[in-house]
Amino acid sequence: MRYYVNRVADDNGDHEVHVQTCHKLPFNRIDLGDHSSCRPAVQAARSYYSTADGCALCSPACHSG
Ligand SMILES: [Zn+2]
Repeated sequence: MRYYVNRVADDNGDHEVHVQTCHKLPFNRIDLGDHSSCRPAVQAARSYYSTADGCALCSPACHSG
């Protein structure tokens, strides 16, 4: 699964990580490459943004609220 992180922080200051098929996939994003699940994808995103977090819609297992 291809993952992306939003370059723009949400209202909580989090940079959300999305799968390619998410309908909330942002236009302004960084390609994180292919990952088997949201956990390594969020880890990769944290090299860009320490507040990276899974999208509640497409990656709820990695969404911390
Ligand atoms: Zn999403």
